[in-house]
Parts: sequence; C-alpha cells; structure tokens
Amino acid sequence: MKVLVVGGAGYIGSHTQYELIKAGHSVVILDNFSTGHKEFIHDKAKLYYGDIRVKDDVDRVFENESGIDVVMHFAAKIVVPESVKVPLEYYHNNVEGVRVLLESASAHGVKSFVFSSTAAVYGEPSKGVCEETDIPAPINPYGETKLACERMIKWVCEAKNMNYMIFRYFNVAGSDESLKIGYKRDIATHLIPLAIESVLGLRGPLSIFGSDYDTKDGTCVRDYIHVSDLAYAHVLGALYLSKGNKSEIVNLGSSSGYTVLEVINEVKKVAEIKYNLDCRREGDPAILIASTKKAKSLLGFTPKYSLLDMISSELSFRKKQVNK
Ligand code: UDP
Repeated sequence: MKVLVVGGAGYIGSHTQYELIKAGHSVVILDNFSTGHKEFIHDKAKLYYGDIRVKDDVDRVFENESGIDVVMHFAAKIVVPESVKVPLEYYHNNVEGVRVLLESASAHGVKSFVFSSTAAVYGEPSKGVCEETDIPAPINPYGETKLACERMIKWVCEAKNMNYMIFRYFNVAGSDESLKIGYKRDIATHLIPLAIESVLGLRGPLSIFGSDYDTKDGTCVRDYIHVSDLAYAHVLGALYLSKGNKSEIVNLGSSSGYTVLEVINEVKKVAEIKYNLDCRREGDPAILIASTKKAKSLLGFTPKYSLLDMISSELSFRKKQVNK
C-alpha cells in the first residue's frame, strides 16, 4: 500500500510510520512540525512540509504523489485542559484540518481514510467499559472536536464512495524498541510521561489526582496500550480497508484497567518514584476501559506489550533524550 500519514512526525504518527515501513509499505508524510520532530521521520519515508488547513499544501502532496491508497490522520491537538481554554483553536485545527484533508483526498481519488479518535468521545460512561455502540457524550472540547470529525468522515465517505476506519484510542504510552522515536513534548500532560519526568528528576513528586473514587484503591482506572501495538493496529486497519471492506469504528486498548496506584507500582519495578495524594482533577471519569472484542474479531488485533513494557521503553527513550 501507499499511505499518506498526516502528522507523521508526532508521537503516534511516527510510530505508525515505522510499523508501516517495517511491514513493507510505502509512506508519504505531511507535517507542519507544530508538535512533531524532523528526526522522527524514517529514512524511507517521503516528507512534505505543510499545514492541513491550507488546501494548496494538501493538494500539492496528492498532485506529486500518485496512487495514494490510504490517508491516515494524526495531526490534531490533544490536550484536554488546553481545549477547554482555547476551544476555537481546537475546532480550527482538528475539525477544519480534517475537512480540508477530506476535500482534497476525495477529489484526488483516495479510497480509504483512517482517523485517530479517542475514548474522550465516550465522556463519563456509567459502566466504565466502553463499547463502540455506546452513544458518544463528550465532556470537553477536545472530545467534541473528535466526535465532530467522526461524523464528518462518515457523511463525506458515504457521499464520495470511500471507506473509513475510526480508531478510538485509550491511554497510549511507550516507545518503539529502536528508541529513535517516542513521547517528546515540551510539556508532558499524561500520567506515564509525568511519572517518568518525576523519576528522572525533571519535575517534583507525581501528584495523584484523587484517591476517593469508587474504585478498588480510590484512584482512577484507565486502560493502557503500547504505542507500537496501537501503531500496528493501523497497519491492520489500512489493509482491511484496502480490501474494500466496510467502514468501522474500533476501540484500541487492552481491555484491562489499572489504577493510578497500580501504574506507580509498575514504575517502582524499574525505578524509584516520589508521589503524593492530591485532589481530583476536573472532568476525570473514575473508570475508562475499552471493550476490545471488535478489534480482535474484525482485525485479529491483540496487544503484545505489557504496562511494564510501556513504562520501561518510555523511560529508556526519555533517558536517551536527557543524555543527548
Ligand atoms: N493522573 C494523575 N496524576 C497526573 C496525571 C494524571 O493522577 O499527574 C491521573 C488522571 O487523573 C487519570 C489518569 O491518571 O485518572 C490518567 O490520566 P491521563 O492524563 O494520563 O489520561 P486521561 O485518561 O485523562 O486521558
């Protein structure tokens, strides 16, 4: 397959690029390096610099690169508290970006579209385990923009005779085993990167946001998936679409939940970490776990890496970055 990876210099996009190349596919990347990194581009990938909200930038890629089978979109803003502060930036980047990309891709005869969505579209599910058939009810602008994209993709793909795969990610962590790519952002916003920064002395003790939830130890439960597993699922998803199969929405997680304290206990297996109990963070559901039956039955996907693999690979990547 020939795949256009939009946002291929970012965390998940770069891992997907690596998995596609490992599986022998041809990769073209479009990125504006707003949060991505030039050094994350694989030697075998062809890079275009540009912004997906600018139609000429996107058209240029399709005009130069004939025969793109699948477009994958990763070029989104993803920080929930930031989305609450500057919602219009999220609508502009996430929704307008996808609109322009769909317009250009469909006009150039692309047949398949793979989209990075999120468990945030489920909002605060009462039962904790999320099925793809649950009615989405996001509780922040980030989740709203992803849901708006999901719906736009459905209508556009139906009108233009394209098929799509929407992946709803749960909590993604870890680094590729090469340690050439990984989680690298100016400000960490997620539990495992923050824990690793505490371990490496790049910040103070980790704060646990809330210890009075209705869970086994009072801290929130999340479903963690290794970024390389998640990236590989995109290869399977693209192959599925390229065979002309019908469009689907699929959760990507592991179907196991870990509390924040359990995550910290895993960190303690490889490093020392200081932490303290803090108050709840606004908008955190107590439990978010993926039902992964569909990923398995449709794509034959099961994750191969453990939570400890995520923590230790991410720690090795960050150590390598710090020592550069
Ligand atoms: N969390 C925490 N301390 C932190 C960051 C996160 O206790 O410094 C908790 C957070 O409240 C949530 C879980 O860890 O229960 C995962 O949060 P994260 O921001 O990584 O992902 P989210 O599930 O919110 O997308």
